[in-house]
Amino acid sequence: MDKTGGGLFTFHPKCLFLQCVTHQNMKKLKEIKLSHLQLDFLLNKEEKKGFSFLLNHGVYCTRCNAICAKGVVNYTLRLNRFNDIVVDGECAVCGQKVTRVMEFGENILFFEKAMDYRESLQN
Ligand SMILES: [Zn+2]
Repeated sequence: MDKTGGGLFTFHPKCLFLQCVTHQNMKKLKEIKLSHLQLDFLLNKEEKKGFSFLLNHGVYCTRCNAICAKGVVNYTLRLNRFNDIVVDGECAVCGQKVTRVMEFGENILFFEKAMDYRESLQN
């Protein structure tokens, strides 16, 4: 996802800012699997649009040597330790395995929702 700098509130979950509580907690985060239903729960309407845009126009295929022209199929989802969404799937054109990290974890609202979700898993 492209970063547009600035804004009143800038959140850097990947920074090394030691006072950043979120960042300290994050070191302990595990990578977890996400079902499509769980993803549906985590993303709001706008984020779903972003997700499907990236899925169809933002995944690079090394065999096609281009962005997967027909998007990605048969994909599974993970939440990585930064609360980014990782998509593992196949290029719809040639079947090559493709992976794309979608940096949703940089969005503080998504990040917090993902944290709540992780907590709900532990209970
Ligand atoms: Zn391909």
